[in-house]
Amino acid sequence: MVKSSILGYPRIGAQREWKKALEAYWAGKLEEAAFHEQLREIRLSHLIKQKEQGIDLIPVGDFSYYDQVLDTAAMFGIVPQRFTYDGGTVPLSVYYGIARGTKEATASEMTKWFNTNYHYIVPELDGAAPALTENKPLIAYKEAKEALGIEGKPVIIGPLTFLKLSKGYKEGELDQWIEQLLPLYSQILQELSNEGVEWVQVDEPILVTKLDSQDIQRLQKIYSTFAAAAPKLRIMLQTYFESVENYGDIIQLPVQGIGLDLVHGYSGNVKSLEKYGFPQDKVLGAGIIDGRGIWKAALRDKLAQLQEISKWVSEDRLIIQSSCSLLHVPVSLASEIALAPELKGALAFADEKLIELVLLTKGINQGSEAIQAELDDCDVALSALEQSPDRKRNDIREQVAAISSVNPERSQPFSKRHLLQQDKWNLPLLPTTTIGSFPQSADVRKARRLWRKGEWSDSKYEGFIEEQIDTWIHLQEEIGLDVLVHGEFERTDMVEFFGEKLGGFAFTQNGWVQSYGSRCVKPPVIFGDIRFEEPMTVKETKYAQSKTSRPVKGMLTGPITIMNWSFVRDDISREQIAYQLAYALRQEVEALELAGIGMIQVDEPAVREGLPLKEEEQAEYLAWSVKAFRLTTSTVKDSTQIHTHMCYCEFHDMIDSIEDMDADVISIETSRSHGELIHSFEDNTYKLGIGLGVYDIHSPRVPKVEEMTSMIDRALRVLDPKLFWINPDCGLKTRGTEETVQSLKHMVEATKAAREKYEVSIK
Ligand code: GLN
Ligand code: ZN
Repeated sequence: MVKSSILGYPRIGAQREWKKALEAYWAGKLEEAAFHEQLREIRLSHLIKQKEQGIDLIPVGDFSYYDQVLDTAAMFGIVPQRFTYDGGTVPLSVYYGIARGTKEATASEMTKWFNTNYHYIVPELDGAAPALTENKPLIAYKEAKEALGIEGKPVIIGPLTFLKLSKGYKEGELDQWIEQLLPLYSQILQELSNEGVEWVQVDEPILVTKLDSQDIQRLQKIYSTFAAAAPKLRIMLQTYFESVENYGDIIQLPVQGIGLDLVHGYSGNVKSLEKYGFPQDKVLGAGIIDGRGIWKAALRDKLAQLQEISKWVSEDRLIIQSSCSLLHVPVSLASEIALAPELKGALAFADEKLIELVLLTKGINQGSEAIQAELDDCDVALSALEQSPDRKRNDIREQVAAISSVNPERSQPFSKRHLLQQDKWNLPLLPTTTIGSFPQSADVRKARRLWRKGEWSDSKYEGFIEEQIDTWIHLQEEIGLDVLVHGEFERTDMVEFFGEKLGGFAFTQNGWVQSYGSRCVKPPVIFGDIRFEEPMTVKETKYAQSKTSRPVKGMLTGPITIMNWSFVRDDISREQIAYQLAYALRQEVEALELAGIGMIQVDEPAVREGLPLKEEEQAEYLAWSVKAFRLTTSTVKDSTQIHTHMCYCEFHDMIDSIEDMDADVISIETSRSHGELIHSFEDNTYKLGIGLGVYDIHSPRVPKVEEMTSMIDRALRVLDPKLFWINPDCGLKTRGTEETVQSLKHMVEATKAAREKYEVSIK
């Protein structure tokens, strides 16, 4: 009999109960015991749901108090030395300290989980003496069994993935770290085995990236150690997000199951199956239901694919599962009452994916006749979306084809534009600016709510937004910033705001997914061809500019970020979607310029996370991403200054592409990664304007002037002071007003000192 499983379930709760509990606890409004109790209830309710739907192998231990990578580090007692910790179970205060920073110590770096928009906390190994502080998967397994009679499938992150995602050790030390962790992992597995666990899911998504022969040897060592430590336990070596590299080696590892992504890695994995077959002694975890996309699966095609797969694996050795954890999709369609029926009918969130998995399993076990009615319904639903008039607009397709057939370029190179822009603005050395948003206070959120509910008229709401702009223009002048922003008070979110004003987008009411920690995002759904309808940002920007003689930067979200932070249709290529967005945004850029705005920032924080995991596909992605950015920004006058912004990811391997975007100024995050990016500029000279974030905005802590001074000094050792800008890491919308003003004052103070120092040196 084929079984069904998923790799993980979203932890945030159908109504974001999880987020609310975390935030209440952090705010001191929830006692620790009550907090644990609330999270337990949420956790168990997810297991009940899966059981009720009929999932056979239910994951346990996929739940988290913040992030699963941080959990793994905490389980091994890996706590950065700047936090007070003397071994044993990591207290909640330390756990959250690592994630969020404390008054005394900065948070650990956070970075994107493979090519998703989920961020994990990067474990810092330096100085750590790993020990097993608690067997988290065992605790989760026992809880499910005792409370619900569910014999779950514990989930853990495998050692190679965990170590490769960690930092704080030298390249040559990886093997020592494996040596140190192996006994701890072995103990976990032994204890699970003694408890009667049948399957354990060991996540090794790193196996979809290129590994060298040493890594293969490491894997052999790791998994043979596990096999020896817990011979009765069945290990599902789980991969996801792409096809497995080194498939021929991986299938020889001494594990009982191999989990493959048969959605995002379908063609690569099938090629490997064709070449190497599938070992007769193993179970295939067939990741056939998309764990990341929100579209209903074409069940008939999926059945055909499973049939194809059964050429290599007999059905009794199949587990039908999601392609990855369902962490990356919203919880349920149940509360979506406002979506157009043809769209809603074509969607599947986590709960609907459970149903799809159970149906496919039934279809395989009992034959497709057993699910005939559901197959027919599925066909009807999918073709209804196909016929919706917004889906295909020939006018847009023609225009986009025309503009994207030429290479978009500004009319002069940066060296010339820079002079024109300097003449126009006459900015001081080391100009200061911010990234766009200012604190979205409770008042701002309340005003928006009242307006959306219709309790406030448009004009009342607009008046309120103008007051916010007034306040912050005044504050920015008082702080002494050189280039101002309007503050983005009218925006809930940098993607949703634009999506709501463009054609081809739809919005869910409750389609939240976790981004990092308690922060959730509600990605728009791109289901049709994208249309510019009317200017989206001109009114507020123009208003802000009318209130000051200093330049106000216009503020847009770029095409790649809008695309990567949306759920996108899968019937046309991402490249085409990006160009459609670029064409729409170009019309906004032109409208801003026409309204007299001479600096325009087009944010692209999400370029990196869309980078294909396969090296051989990266250049092409970067090429069309850069092109989309240039399509958006290259029609402006040479004296118009184009800015861009990127944050919270690894940039060092894409600096050439960043330069290729040809933005006059880029602001880029560096402070949370403690300036590591700066090293990349030692060998590559960056020739355009650049501001490296001088403080981390994810922490409520007000950084000292000296901290920023040292960031500036470090950067200016490798970057040209004449092209350097000073700014925080990212937008300030999650911060409080007071800490923001304080921090920016410190930033301006650090800048003034730096100007004195570097003015002399450049003369
Ligand atoms: N302009 C946006 C802001 O300031 C940029 C946010 C981001 O990079 N994520 O909020
Ligand atoms: Zn940012």
